Amino acid sequence: MGMRHIGYATRTIPKFLDPLPGGAKLVDAIEFVVAWARANSLWPLIYGTACCAMEMMSTGSSRHDWARFGVEVARATPRQADLIVLAGTIVEKMGSRLVTLYEQMPGPKYVIAMGSCAISGGPFYYDSYSVIKGGDRLIPVDVYIPGCPPRPEALLYGIMQLQEKIRTEGRRNPWKIGTLNQAPFGDPLAEAKKMWADLEKSRPAAPPAAADAAGGNGAIDRPKPKRPATEQFAEVARSPLPAPLLDNGTIYAYIIENFPEITLTRQSEQTVEQVRALGQEYLLDLTVPLRRYVELVGFLKDSELLDMNFLLHVTAVDRPDRFEVLAHLFSANQGHNILIRCALDRQQPEIPSLSPLFAGAIWHEREVFDLFGIRFSNHPDLRRLFLEDNFPGHPLRKDFDDPSRVVRRPY
Ligand code: SF4
Repeated sequence: MGMRHIGYATRTIPKFLDPLPGGAKLVDAIEFVVAWARANSLWPLIYGTACCAMEMMSTGSSRHDWARFGVEVARATPRQADLIVLAGTIVEKMGSRLVTLYEQMPGPKYVIAMGSCAISGGPFYYDSYSVIKGGDRLIPVDVYIPGCPPRPEALLYGIMQLQEKIRTEGRRNPWKIGTLNQAPFGDPLAEAKKMWADLEKSRPAAPPAAADAAGGNGAIDRPKPKRPATEQFAEVARSPLPAPLLDNGTIYAYIIENFPEITLTRQSEQTVEQVRALGQEYLLDLTVPLRRYVELVGFLKDSELLDMNFLLHVTAVDRPDRFEVLAHLFSANQGHNILIRCALDRQQPEIPSLSPLFAGAIWHEREVFDLFGIRFSNHPDLRRLFLEDNFPGHPLRKDFDDPSRVVRRPY
């Protein structure tokens, strides 16, 4: 019998039975059976966003087996689920999707917030621009399970608590959608920290016997815990990276011969001989003027001598007076490593895209645009990568400060 028919029956039958002698008792009995059946046949939606999801999967697998509690057949569509376990961190971009999933679930429906992240943002409560500070700011939560992560036993206990709640529901206590958490952000530990500081001030000095036991220096001689022997695994053989064909001094000499305006970052007084003396551990770190940035990267890529055929990453740094874009190039055949930097104006940071040279630059540059607001001219698809299109500002800029989402650490 589907939920629609059960709902129809629970609404209709009492109208006929309640007025009859003993009818109310019969209705109660029917409701008990319906609530019992509902509590013991929860169908969870497959939804896990971070490490807590590993514990949730473990709860569903053979050792813990949440099917023993009727939590069976995890569904891949919200239309067939009546339980969502928020297992993991919920980020801004996931927020609107989570609300959509919840709205698509038929009622009565239930939510369990599993772990610190789903309860309050957890370790990401402070200083985070992207983590939602609790699933209950988006959808109503029925059961909270603390822990980072909670163990499977804790999730099973949370499920049992939810079942208790469902068993109380019926005609006299109907299910209804709960409310959202609208409490303002702040430091939830401020009061506890103050109390702790006051307690520390009023703590009496250790009695002499305790000081003696501590050997007079405050260090108590506790027995060391016995640890199980560490399992040793055989070393996995890996193919070594190719040894660089050319030393850094030779590479540097070759580059400045073609691009004399290039300087060594932070070591501009170094000569070719000094660069060579730094050894191969030193990452050749070059600063190039904006007008020759793409030309230099193209030269390094096309040079048969250097063969820089792999763009490891493009990223950026926010300096007090400028932005810097960094491109890290690698030669997969010859083992050369070169970092290229380019300074940009803080007011209008814009630089040509490397995407005509390396297709992989498309994603890296979108990330830099998203988080720093640096524009890449002639980029084929310059959109945000991680954040919603309407996200205000660029969170890795040092001047980014949005009190509606970032709670600053108070210490
Ligand atoms: S609560 Fe801890 S274990 Fe769970 S998702 Fe957050 S960081 Fe990971």
